[in-house]
Amino acid sequence: MYDVAIIGTGPAGLSAVLTLKLHNKEIIWFGSPEMSDKVGKSEKIANYPGVAMVGGADLNAKFRAQADEMGLESADKRVTNIAAMGDHYMILADNEMYEARTVLLSTGIAAAKGMENEARLLGAGVSYCATCDGFLYKGKTVAVYCTDERMAHDIKYLEEISGKLYIYTSFGYTTDAENAEVLKLPVKKLDGGMKCDSIELTDGTKIDVDGVFILRPAIAPSTVLPGLEMDGAHIKVDRSQETNYKGCYAAGDCTGRPYQIAKAVGEGNVAAHAILEHLNEIGKEN
Ligand SMILES: Cc1cc2nc3c(=O)[nH]c(=O)nc-3n(C[C@H](O)[C@H](O)[C@H](O)COP(=O)(O)OP(=O)(O)OC[C@H]3O[C@@H](n4cnc5c(N)ncnc54)[C@H](O)[C@@H]3O)c2cc1C
Repeated sequence: MYDVAIIGTGPAGLSAVLTLKLHNKEIIWFGSPEMSDKVGKSEKIANYPGVAMVGGADLNAKFRAQADEMGLESADKRVTNIAAMGDHYMILADNEMYEARTVLLSTGIAAAKGMENEARLLGAGVSYCATCDGFLYKGKTVAVYCTDERMAHDIKYLEEISGKLYIYTSFGYTTDAENAEVLKLPVKKLDGGMKCDSIELTDGTKIDVDGVFILRPAIAPSTVLPGLEMDGAHIKVDRSQETNYKGCYAAGDCTGRPYQIAKAVGEGNVAAHAILEHLNEIGKEN
Protein backbone atom coordinates (compact mmCIF):
# COMPACT_ATOMS: atom_id res chain seq x y z
CA MET A 1 0.00 0.00 0.00
CA TYR A 2 1.29 3.47 -0.90
CA ASP A 3 1.34 6.30 1.66
CA VAL A 4 -0.01 8.71 -0.90
CA ALA A 5 -1.46 8.71 -4.41
CA ILE A 6 -0.96 12.02 -6.21
CA ILE A 7 -3.10 12.65 -9.26
CA GLY A 8 -1.71 15.25 -11.63
CA THR A 9 1.76 16.20 -12.79
CA GLY A 10 1.13 19.95 -12.94
CA PRO A 11 2.73 22.47 -10.58
CA ALA A 12 0.45 21.52 -7.65
CA GLY A 13 1.19 17.80 -7.90
CA LEU A 14 4.90 18.38 -8.43
CA SER A 15 5.14 20.70 -5.43
CA ALA A 16 3.51 18.09 -3.19
CA VAL A 17 5.50 15.16 -4.51
CA LEU A 18 8.83 16.93 -3.92
CA THR A 19 8.07 17.51 -0.24
CA LEU A 20 6.65 14.02 0.30
CA LYS A 21 9.67 12.46 -1.35
CA LEU A 22 11.99 14.40 0.96
CA HIS A 23 10.12 12.72 3.81
CA ASN A 24 10.67 9.29 2.25
CA LYS A 25 7.01 8.54 1.71
CA GLU A 26 5.88 5.73 -0.59
CA ILE A 27 4.30 7.59 -3.48
CA ILE A 28 2.38 6.69 -6.60
CA TRP A 29 2.19 9.73 -8.89
CA PHE A 30 -0.21 9.69 -11.84
CA GLY A 31 -0.03 11.96 -14.87
CA SER A 32 1.73 12.76 -18.08
CA PRO A 33 5.57 12.76 -18.04
CA GLU A 34 5.25 15.95 -20.10
CA MET A 35 3.82 17.60 -16.98
CA SER A 36 1.20 20.36 -17.34
CA ASP A 37 -0.53 21.06 -20.66
CA LYS A 38 -1.61 24.43 -19.30
CA VAL A 39 1.89 25.51 -18.33
CA GLY A 40 3.11 24.25 -21.71
CA LYS A 41 0.58 26.42 -23.52
CA SER A 42 1.65 29.60 -21.76
CA GLU A 43 3.76 31.75 -24.06
CA LYS A 44 5.61 33.65 -21.33
CA ILE A 45 5.34 33.48 -17.57
CA ALA A 46 6.46 36.63 -15.81
CA ASN A 47 5.04 36.20 -12.30
CA TYR A 48 6.61 33.00 -11.00
CA PRO A 49 9.34 33.81 -8.46
CA GLY A 50 12.88 32.72 -9.20
CA VAL A 51 12.38 32.12 -12.92
CA ALA A 52 12.40 35.41 -14.83
CA MET A 53 10.22 35.64 -17.99
CA VAL A 54 10.17 31.99 -18.90
CA GLY A 55 8.34 30.23 -21.74
CA GLY A 56 5.76 27.67 -20.56
CA ALA A 57 7.45 24.79 -22.40
CA ASP A 58 10.76 25.71 -20.77
CA LEU A 59 9.21 25.87 -17.31
CA ASN A 60 7.59 22.45 -17.89
CA ALA A 61 11.00 21.07 -18.87
CA LYS A 62 12.49 22.53 -15.67
CA PHE A 63 9.69 20.92 -13.64
CA ARG A 64 10.38 17.56 -15.29
CA ALA A 65 14.14 17.90 -14.77
CA GLN A 66 13.61 18.62 -11.07
CA ALA A 67 11.38 15.56 -10.71
CA ASP A 68 13.95 13.40 -12.56
CA GLU A 69 16.76 14.72 -10.38
CA MET A 70 14.80 13.61 -7.30
CA GLY A 71 14.20 10.19 -8.86
CA LEU A 72 10.47 10.81 -9.18
CA GLU A 73 8.75 8.83 -11.89
CA SER A 74 5.16 9.45 -12.83
CA ALA A 75 2.85 6.69 -14.02
CA ASP A 76 1.46 7.89 -17.35
CA LYS A 77 -2.05 6.72 -16.54
CA ARG A 78 -5.42 8.41 -16.30
CA VAL A 79 -7.26 7.94 -13.03
CA THR A 80 -10.93 7.22 -13.69
CA ASN A 81 -12.20 6.16 -10.31
CA ILE A 82 -11.37 6.52 -6.63
CA ALA A 83 -13.21 4.65 -3.89
CA ALA A 84 -12.99 5.62 -0.20
CA MET A 85 -12.55 2.43 1.83
CA GLY A 86 -12.60 3.98 5.32
CA ASP A 87 -8.92 3.85 6.27
CA HIS A 88 -7.53 3.93 2.72
CA TYR A 89 -8.40 4.59 -0.92
CA MET A 90 -8.63 2.34 -3.99
CA ILE A 91 -7.55 4.07 -7.18
CA LEU A 92 -8.36 2.79 -10.66
CA ALA A 93 -5.97 4.01 -13.36
CA ASP A 94 -6.02 2.58 -16.89
CA ASN A 95 -7.55 -0.66 -15.65
CA GLU A 96 -5.06 -1.15 -12.82
CA MET A 97 -5.98 -0.89 -9.17
CA TYR A 98 -3.76 0.87 -6.59
CA GLU A 99 -4.17 1.34 -2.84
CA ALA A 100 -3.06 4.36 -0.86
CA ARG A 101 -3.57 5.68 2.66
CA THR A 102 -4.08 9.24 1.38
CA VAL A 103 -4.92 10.91 -1.94
CA LEU A 104 -4.05 14.30 -3.39
CA LEU A 105 -6.23 15.55 -6.23
CA SER A 106 -4.15 18.02 -8.24
CA THR A 107 -5.95 17.53 -11.52
CA GLY A 108 -6.26 21.13 -12.69
CA ILE A 109 -9.56 22.49 -13.86
CA ALA A 110 -11.60 20.40 -16.31
CA ALA A 111 -12.49 22.90 -19.02
CA ALA A 112 -15.00 20.68 -20.79
CA LYS A 113 -18.59 20.70 -19.68
CA GLY A 114 -20.03 17.21 -19.67
CA MET A 115 -22.46 16.23 -22.43
CA GLU A 116 -26.16 16.11 -21.74
CA ASN A 117 -26.94 12.83 -19.86
CA GLU A 118 -23.22 12.00 -19.51
CA ALA A 119 -23.25 11.78 -15.71
CA ARG A 120 -26.50 9.76 -15.66
CA LEU A 121 -25.35 7.20 -18.24
CA LEU A 122 -21.77 6.82 -17.00
CA GLY A 123 -21.26 3.10 -16.36
CA ALA A 124 -24.43 2.37 -18.35
CA GLY A 125 -23.03 2.28 -21.86
CA VAL A 126 -20.78 5.30 -21.29
CA SER A 127 -17.14 4.84 -20.31
CA TYR A 128 -14.08 7.04 -19.83
CA CYS A 129 -11.60 4.19 -20.34
CA ALA A 130 -11.20 2.17 -23.56
CA THR A 131 -8.57 -0.12 -22.03
CA CYS A 132 -10.86 -0.97 -19.11
CA ASP A 133 -14.21 -1.40 -20.87
CA GLY A 134 -13.41 -1.86 -24.57
CA PHE A 135 -13.76 -5.65 -24.40
CA LEU A 136 -17.43 -5.24 -23.46
CA TYR A 137 -18.10 -3.90 -26.96
CA LYS A 138 -16.35 -6.52 -29.09
CA GLY A 139 -18.05 -6.58 -32.50
CA LYS A 140 -20.58 -3.90 -31.44
CA THR A 141 -21.39 -0.39 -32.62
CA VAL A 142 -19.49 2.17 -30.63
CA ALA A 143 -18.86 5.92 -30.68
CA VAL A 144 -15.70 7.55 -29.39
CA TYR A 145 -15.35 11.23 -28.53
CA CYS A 146 -11.74 12.22 -27.95
CA THR A 147 -10.17 15.60 -27.20
CA ASP A 148 -6.63 14.51 -26.42
CA GLU A 149 -4.29 13.37 -29.20
CA ARG A 150 -2.26 11.40 -26.65
CA MET A 151 -5.24 9.02 -26.39
CA ALA A 152 -5.28 8.25 -30.14
CA HIS A 153 -3.97 4.75 -29.34
CA ASP A 154 -7.27 4.09 -27.53
CA ILE A 155 -9.16 4.97 -30.73
CA LYS A 156 -6.98 2.49 -32.64
CA TYR A 157 -7.79 -0.15 -30.03
CA LEU A 158 -11.53 0.52 -30.42
CA GLU A 159 -11.15 0.25 -34.22
CA GLU A 160 -9.64 -3.18 -33.72
CA ILE A 161 -12.35 -4.58 -31.48
CA SER A 162 -15.61 -2.86 -32.44
CA GLY A 163 -17.93 -3.88 -35.28
CA LYS A 164 -18.57 -0.27 -36.28
CA LEU A 165 -16.86 2.78 -34.78
CA TYR A 166 -18.01 6.41 -35.05
CA ILE A 167 -15.15 8.76 -34.22
CA TYR A 168 -15.17 12.42 -33.30
CA THR A 169 -11.89 14.08 -32.33
CA SER A 170 -10.91 17.69 -31.79
CA PHE A 171 -7.52 17.09 -33.46
CA GLY A 172 -8.31 15.86 -36.98
CA TYR A 173 -7.88 12.11 -36.55
CA THR A 174 -7.84 10.15 -39.80
CA THR A 175 -8.09 6.40 -40.39
CA ASP A 176 -8.23 3.76 -43.13
CA ALA A 177 -10.08 1.25 -40.98
CA GLU A 178 -13.07 -0.06 -42.92
CA ASN A 179 -15.30 -0.27 -39.85
CA ALA A 180 -14.59 3.34 -38.82
CA GLU A 181 -16.35 6.56 -39.74
CA VAL A 182 -14.96 9.95 -38.74
CA LEU A 183 -17.71 12.39 -37.76
CA LYS A 184 -17.39 16.03 -38.80
CA LEU A 185 -19.59 17.34 -35.99
CA PRO A 186 -19.17 16.82 -32.25
CA VAL A 187 -21.56 14.88 -30.06
CA LYS A 188 -23.96 17.13 -28.16
CA LYS A 189 -26.06 14.66 -26.26
CA LEU A 190 -26.21 11.04 -25.15
CA ASP A 191 -29.56 9.28 -25.10
CA GLY A 192 -31.05 6.18 -23.52
CA GLY A 193 -33.15 5.03 -20.59
CA MET A 194 -31.32 2.51 -18.40
CA LYS A 195 -28.44 2.38 -20.89
CA CYS A 196 -26.97 4.68 -23.53
CA ASP A 197 -28.36 3.62 -26.90
CA SER A 198 -27.76 6.62 -29.16
CA ILE A 199 -25.81 9.84 -29.60
CA GLU A 200 -26.97 13.15 -31.00
CA LEU A 201 -24.65 15.43 -32.97
CA THR A 202 -24.78 19.22 -32.85
CA ASP A 203 -26.93 19.34 -36.03
CA GLY A 204 -29.51 16.99 -34.47
CA THR A 205 -28.38 13.82 -36.33
CA LYS A 206 -29.04 10.73 -34.19
CA ILE A 207 -26.86 7.62 -34.39
CA ASP A 208 -27.73 4.33 -32.66
CA VAL A 209 -24.84 2.87 -30.66
CA ASP A 210 -24.21 0.14 -28.11
CA GLY A 211 -21.71 2.20 -26.20
CA VAL A 212 -19.82 5.51 -26.05
CA PHE A 213 -16.25 6.23 -24.99
CA ILE A 214 -15.46 9.77 -23.87
CA LEU A 215 -11.70 10.36 -23.79
CA ARG A 216 -10.78 13.71 -22.30
CA PRO A 217 -7.57 14.52 -20.43
CA ALA A 218 -9.45 15.63 -17.32
CA ILE A 219 -12.54 14.18 -15.71
CA ALA A 220 -14.74 16.07 -13.24
CA PRO A 221 -13.37 15.24 -9.76
CA SER A 222 -16.83 14.49 -8.36
CA THR A 223 -17.23 11.83 -11.07
CA VAL A 224 -13.87 10.28 -10.19
CA LEU A 225 -14.67 10.32 -6.45
CA PRO A 226 -18.45 10.24 -5.97
CA GLY A 227 -19.61 12.21 -2.94
CA LEU A 228 -16.76 14.71 -3.17
CA GLU A 229 -18.09 18.07 -2.02
CA MET A 230 -17.86 20.75 -4.67
CA ASP A 231 -18.38 24.49 -4.82
CA GLY A 232 -19.50 24.86 -8.41
CA ALA A 233 -16.68 23.50 -10.57
CA HIS A 234 -14.18 23.59 -7.68
CA ILE A 235 -13.39 21.07 -4.96
CA LYS A 236 -14.26 22.32 -1.47
CA VAL A 237 -11.23 22.24 0.84
CA ASP A 238 -10.33 23.53 4.30
CA ARG A 239 -7.19 25.50 5.24
CA SER A 240 -5.12 22.31 5.19
CA GLN A 241 -6.41 21.51 1.66
CA GLU A 242 -8.44 18.58 3.01
CA THR A 243 -11.70 17.71 1.23
CA ASN A 244 -14.84 16.33 2.89
CA TYR A 245 -13.14 12.90 2.75
CA LYS A 246 -10.65 12.33 5.58
CA GLY A 247 -7.20 11.75 4.08
CA CYS A 248 -8.17 13.13 0.69
CA TYR A 249 -6.71 16.52 -0.22
CA ALA A 250 -6.91 18.80 -3.24
CA ALA A 251 -4.58 21.54 -4.52
CA GLY A 252 -4.15 23.89 -7.46
CA ASP A 253 -6.64 25.08 -10.06
CA CYS A 254 -9.11 22.35 -9.06
CA THR A 255 -9.78 24.11 -5.73
CA GLY A 256 -10.59 27.53 -7.22
CA ARG A 257 -9.30 30.81 -8.57
CA PRO A 258 -6.91 32.46 -9.15
CA TYR A 259 -5.63 29.94 -11.69
CA GLN A 260 -1.94 30.62 -11.12
CA ILE A 261 1.20 28.54 -10.85
CA ALA A 262 2.30 30.18 -7.59
CA LYS A 263 -1.05 29.37 -5.96
CA ALA A 264 -0.93 25.77 -7.24
CA VAL A 265 2.60 25.29 -5.91
CA GLY A 266 1.66 26.84 -2.54
CA GLU A 267 -1.40 24.67 -2.10
CA GLY A 268 0.53 21.55 -3.15
CA ASN A 269 3.02 22.33 -0.40
CA VAL A 270 0.32 22.91 2.24
CA ALA A 271 -1.36 19.64 1.22
CA ALA A 272 1.92 17.73 1.44
CA HIS A 273 2.47 18.93 5.01
CA ALA A 274 -1.11 18.08 5.96
CA ILE A 275 -0.63 14.61 4.45
CA LEU A 276 2.56 14.13 6.49
CA GLU A 277 0.68 15.08 9.67
CA HIS A 278 -2.20 12.76 8.81
CA LEU A 279 0.14 9.83 8.08
CA ASN A 280 1.87 10.50 11.38
CA GLU A 281 -1.44 10.41 13.23
CA ILE A 282 -2.66 7.18 11.64
CA GLY A 283 0.80 5.68 12.21
CA LYS A 284 0.43 6.35 15.96
CA GLU A 285 -3.05 4.79 16.00
CA ASN A 286 -1.84 1.54 14.39
C1 LIG B 1 -2.46 29.92 -21.90
C2 LIG B 1 -2.21 29.93 -20.42
C3 LIG B 1 -1.36 30.87 -19.89
C4 LIG B 1 -1.11 30.90 -18.51
N1 LIG B 1 -0.24 31.82 -18.00
C5 LIG B 1 0.05 31.83 -16.68
C6 LIG B 1 1.00 32.76 -16.14
O1 LIG B 1 1.57 33.58 -16.86
N2 LIG B 1 1.24 32.71 -14.80
C7 LIG B 1 0.62 31.80 -13.97
O2 LIG B 1 0.91 31.79 -12.78
N3 LIG B 1 -0.27 30.92 -14.47
C8 LIG B 1 -0.58 30.90 -15.79
N4 LIG B 1 -1.49 30.01 -16.29
C9 LIG B 1 -2.23 29.13 -15.33
C10 LIG B 1 -1.40 27.92 -14.89
O3 LIG B 1 -0.97 27.19 -16.02
C11 LIG B 1 -2.25 27.05 -13.95
O4 LIG B 1 -2.72 27.82 -12.88
C12 LIG B 1 -1.44 25.88 -13.40
O5 LIG B 1 -0.96 25.06 -14.45
C13 LIG B 1 -2.30 25.05 -12.44
O6 LIG B 1 -1.56 23.96 -11.99
P1 LIG B 1 -2.28 22.63 -11.46
O7 LIG B 1 -1.19 21.74 -11.03
O8 LIG B 1 -3.36 22.98 -10.52
O9 LIG B 1 -3.05 22.03 -12.74
P2 LIG B 1 -2.53 21.68 -14.21
O10 LIG B 1 -1.32 22.43 -14.55
O11 LIG B 1 -3.73 21.80 -15.07
O12 LIG B 1 -2.11 20.15 -14.08
C14 LIG B 1 -3.05 19.15 -13.86
C15 LIG B 1 -2.45 17.81 -14.25
O13 LIG B 1 -3.33 16.75 -13.86
C16 LIG B 1 -3.44 15.81 -14.90
N5 LIG B 1 -4.71 15.10 -14.74
C17 LIG B 1 -5.95 15.63 -14.73
N6 LIG B 1 -6.86 14.67 -14.54
C18 LIG B 1 -6.17 13.51 -14.42
C19 LIG B 1 -6.56 12.15 -14.23
N7 LIG B 1 -7.85 11.81 -14.09
N8 LIG B 1 -5.61 11.21 -14.15
C20 LIG B 1 -4.28 11.54 -14.28
N9 LIG B 1 -3.84 12.82 -14.47
C21 LIG B 1 -4.79 13.78 -14.55
C22 LIG B 1 -3.36 16.68 -16.17
O14 LIG B 1 -3.09 15.92 -17.29
C23 LIG B 1 -2.25 17.64 -15.75
O15 LIG B 1 -0.99 17.06 -15.97
C24 LIG B 1 -1.75 29.96 -17.66
C25 LIG B 1 -2.62 29.01 -18.20
C26 LIG B 1 -2.85 28.98 -19.57
C27 LIG B 1 -3.79 27.94 -20.14
